[in-house]
Amino acid sequence: MSASVALSVVIPVYNEELNLPELFKRLYPVLDGLGRAYEVIFTNDGSADRSFELLRAQHAARPDVTRVIDFNANYGQHMAIMAAFERVRGAVVVTLDADLQNPPEEIPALLAKIDAGHDSVGGYRISRQDSLFRTYASRLINFVRERTTNIQMTDQGCMLRAYRREIVDAIVRSGAINTFIPALAYSFSGNPAEVGVRHEERHAGVSNYSFYRLIRLNFDLITGFSLAPLQYFTMFAMACSAGSFVLVLILAGRRIFIGPEEGGLFTLFGILFFLISVTMVGIGLIGEYVGRTYQVVRARQRYHVREMLEVRA
Ligand code: UDP
Ligand code: MG
Repeated sequence: MSASVALSVVIPVYNEELNLPELFKRLYPVLDGLGRAYEVIFTNDGSADRSFELLRAQHAARPDVTRVIDFNANYGQHMAIMAAFERVRGAVVVTLDADLQNPPEEIPALLAKIDAGHDSVGGYRISRQDSLFRTYASRLINFVRERTTNIQMTDQGCMLRAYRREIVDAIVRSGAINTFIPALAYSFSGNPAEVGVRHEERHAGVSNYSFYRLIRLNFDLITGFSLAPLQYFTMFAMACSAGSFVLVLILAGRRIFIGPEEGGLFTLFGILFFLISVTMVGIGLIGEYVGRTYQVVRARQRYHVREMLEVRA
């Protein structure tokens, strides 16, 4: 690690040809104005448009401070950030969206918090500029996350964040896959802070997240950080089992003291419910083990870099 770089800015890019020129125009002056040695790492996440050509041109224009990772395919925003994390040279790392929803002008506010001694600074969006559906879906997932994990943050969906290098290195070492970077960073942070940041409408184009991809992402958040879904299932199944066991006892008692009812159908139901419940507990238990195994197994490399544009450090 060359300690000469103070700041690494990490930006995932997926089909952002309409936003990149404006991003370059606004981002670089802010960074030049900081008076710190910096680098910007763009990850081209398998864009199908001209994004990579624009990144190549930007690398040619500012080769000393611009690095570009080119994925061979689309691996998702968090993998794109992860690939950059594995290559950062800076002592502080800032993540940012390419669509200008996170104004680059807010970066100094994040850095001020880092300079004040925090190791991880999360932005939360003031007056969020997203569809009502996205805003409410995000509140719901906030609610679920607060109850199933011990991660405390105002706005896990805001990608404008700053981390000290130690946190980023810990994220990389964790080898986490299918991950949710802000949550992972939080779990390694000893002294997190938050700042309110402006949120703008997407400068151009539409969100890359379809309903399905949003669900997948939030599944990563919940299953990646807790086994609560499995545990609730097992708990529920155990309650069913206990209930069914009582039912079997009652039906057996009636069978003995009152005699056969409805041709023994009730007794049969009692036994059946009990056996089904036992099966459910079994599935839940297997789930527990599969979940634990999954936690260990998922640490494998999941992206491929086709090309790197950078000046050797
Ligand atoms: N992005 C990416 N790969 C993807 C989807 C998105 O690198 O598969 C990038 C995208 O270019 C942008 C950021 O991640 O820089 C956030 O994406 P988007 O604006 O579509 O998400 P939203 O703001 O709607 O959450
Ligand atoms: Mg966006």
